[in-house]
Amino acid sequence: MNRVERLRKILVELGVDALLIVHPENRRYLSGFRGSAGWLLISPKSALLAVDFRYVEQARMEAPGFEIVHIKGEPAAWLPGLATDFGVSNIGFESDHLPFATYQKLHTALKKHGIKLTPTENVVESLRAIKDREEIENIVTAAALADAAFQYARSIIRPGITEKHVAWEVEKFLRSQGSETIPFDIIIASGPNSALPHARASQRCIQENEPIVIDLGARINGYCSDLTRTIILGNGDGTFSRIYDIVLGAQLTALATITSGMTAGDADNLARTVIEKAGYGEKFGHGLGHGVGLNPHELPRLSPGSSDMLQENMVFTIEPGIYMPDWGGVRIEDIVIIQKGKVRPLSRSDKIANTASGGLLIR
Ligand code: ZN
Ligand code: ZN
Repeated sequence: MNRVERLRKILVELGVDALLIVHPENRRYLSGFRGSAGWLLISPKSALLAVDFRYVEQARMEAPGFEIVHIKGEPAAWLPGLATDFGVSNIGFESDHLPFATYQKLHTALKKHGIKLTPTENVVESLRAIKDREEIENIVTAAALADAAFQYARSIIRPGITEKHVAWEVEKFLRSQGSETIPFDIIIASGPNSALPHARASQRCIQENEPIVIDLGARINGYCSDLTRTIILGNGDGTFSRIYDIVLGAQLTALATITSGMTAGDADNLARTVIEKAGYGEKFGHGLGHGVGLNPHELPRLSPGSSDMLQENMVFTIEPGIYMPDWGGVRIEDIVIIQKGKVRPLSRSDKIANTASGGLLIR
């Protein structure tokens, strides 16, 4: 069953006549259209792609299954007429993505025609969480490129080099090896900076004997990867190897025990328990992971209490971490897929490199 057909089944359950889609990756997922602006209106019988003058030709080429409508101006100007033509009287919209001002104007314009707007959440996102073969191939390629980029980062990092310098060299490497625009800013976070889960690469010079968190991803045919390793130059100290071993233990536990049919909240708890038992529960302040696909962060959400159900061919990250202000942090992240009910890692980068302490020590 193709993607639009799968969506149509859900429209019936939602009780709406059609769904209006504006989120770029949702639009691309359903139609194939890669342009930066446009609207989908999908009903049980029709599938429209509404674009302005700039995109009419591109839409025809990229979205062959869709009827292309040439629009001018805001949706309030053209949607009431279009909806009336197609006999639609209750339109679902993406409440997470439709700007409020657009909603207000649209609501007023549609009301005059007796057409209702109904908020929906995560409709297309839920479809996107389960990947098909072609999507998996792209993510596998992106994951391999992230592994290569980590190897490259490891080869250029030395004491005295700035975080920013490393980040830029790694970004150039990714682009030169075939990545499209990278999915998120590369994190190179050394020493105390590594205690910030979403640190930005700074002008700080990397030093010996401090944790260095490296978080990067590639993008292939729109599909992202996401990889984190924490390394140290020199021998490190007792704190590093102790913290590293706890995070690694939590990560390996999650890899070995997460299965399909489990909620993402329960999956999160498998790793979180390891860190809590070691006494660092308060220092693991984010979720265990997130889905990865056309967006670097998508469904499922692996976090405490998440009811997202883990299913075959879902792709997500497993990335526990411990962060201690002033000292630094350790995070280990793999991208994985659920196949035959179990977790299969797509990331291949080393986690332990011949050291007694368990950390990934280099030089
Ligand atoms: Zn990451
Ligand atoms: Zn991540």
